[in-house]
Amino acid sequence: MPKIIIHDAIHPAAIDELKNVKDINIVEIMPSESNRLNYELRDADGIILRYLPLRKAAIFSSKQLKVIARHGVGCDNIDLETANTLGIPVATVGDANSVTVAELTLYLILATAKHGLAYDRSVRNGEWLKSRENLSPIELFKKNVLIVGFGRIGRLVAARCKAFEMNVLVYDPYIDKERIVMEGYKPVASMINALSVSDVITLHVPLTKETFQLIDEKALMHFKKDALLINTSRGPVINEEALCNSLKIGQNILSVGLDVFENEPLLVSDPIAQFDNIIFTPHIGGLTEECYYRSSMRCVQNIIDGINGDLDKDFVINSEILR
Ligand code: NAD
Repeated sequence: MPKIIIHDAIHPAAIDELKNVKDINIVEIMPSESNRLNYELRDADGIILRYLPLRKAAIFSSKQLKVIARHGVGCDNIDLETANTLGIPVATVGDANSVTVAELTLYLILATAKHGLAYDRSVRNGEWLKSRENLSPIELFKKNVLIVGFGRIGRLVAARCKAFEMNVLVYDPYIDKERIVMEGYKPVASMINALSVSDVITLHVPLTKETFQLIDEKALMHFKKDALLINTSRGPVINEEALCNSLKIGQNILSVGLDVFENEPLLVSDPIAQFDNIIFTPHIGGLTEECYYRSSMRCVQNIIDGINGDLDKDFVINSEILR
C-alpha cells in the first residue's frame, strides 16, 4: 500500500479524494511535528509539502520516494539538485494560485497608490482634515508599470494593469519579445534602464541565484521619484537592508507593498516593519479558499499520477528526469 506524507494542512476535500481514489496509507505531519519527517520519509512513496524546507538529508533518507508534490509553485524550499540526483520528480500546482497572487498584487498596487492604510488610520484617529491636506494619492491611469517576470502570474498582473489603462512594460529575458508585443505590452531589454521610467515596479520572478537580491542598492538608485514597489514573489528578491536604507533617506520610493520577506514570519522588531509607507500582508498570495481547494486537489492528482508513473510534464519542474 503506497504511503503518502502530507506535511501541514491541505484542503479536507483533497484528502477525501486521495482516500477514495487509491488504497493508500496517509500520514499527516503538522509543522510542530516536523522532526518526524526524516523517519516517516524512509518508506514513503510520495509527499505533499507546503512551506517546510526539504533539504538534502531529508530527501536522501527516503528509499522509494516517487514524487514530491509542492502545494504552491515556488520550489526554493526543496533541494532540487538532490531530487534530480535521485531521479525524484518535483511537481507544482501550475496555475492554481496565479490569479490569486495577481489579485493580491493589484490590491497592493491600489493600496499603495491610494495610501489605503494611512487614510484608514487617519479617520480612526480623528485626523480627517489633516490627512486630506497632507496626503496625496496617485492615479494608475496612463502610469508606467514594470512587470518583472512574465510567467503565469506576471501575465495576469499585466492584463489587470492594462484594464486600468496603464502602460505595461515587461522585463523577462527568457520570453520572446514578439510574444510580449503580441500580447499588447512593451518588452524592455534592461531592467535597470526601465526602472528610471517606471511608476510601479512589481516582481514576479522565481527565487534563483540570478534573482537573489535583484532589487539591490544599485537598482534602488535607478528608481523614479515617487515610484511604488510591489513584491509578491519571494522576499530575498529584494535586498531588505538596501530597501530600508533607501526608505530611511527618502531616496525615491513613495510606498511599498510586500507579501513576502527575507525572514518569515516577519518580526515586529524587524527594521523593515518600522516604516509607515510599507503595506504588509503575511505571505497570503495563495490563501483564498478557492485557491486552497484548487492547489490541494492538484497536489493530490500529482501524487496519484506520480505513484502511477504518469505525471503530467507541465506540472513537473524537473521534467527532464521523466522518461
Ligand atoms: P512562472 O515560472 O510561471 O514565471 C516566472 C517568470 O519569471 C518566467 O517567465 C521566467 O522567465 C521569469 N524569470 C526568471 N528569471 C528572471 C529574471 N532574472 N528576470 C526576469 N524574469 C525572470 O512562475 P509564476 O507562477 O508566475 O510565479 C512566480 C513566483 O511567484 C514563484 O516562483 C513564487 O516564488 C512566487 N509566488 C508567490 C506566492 C505568494 O504566496 N506570494 C504564490 C505563488 C507564487
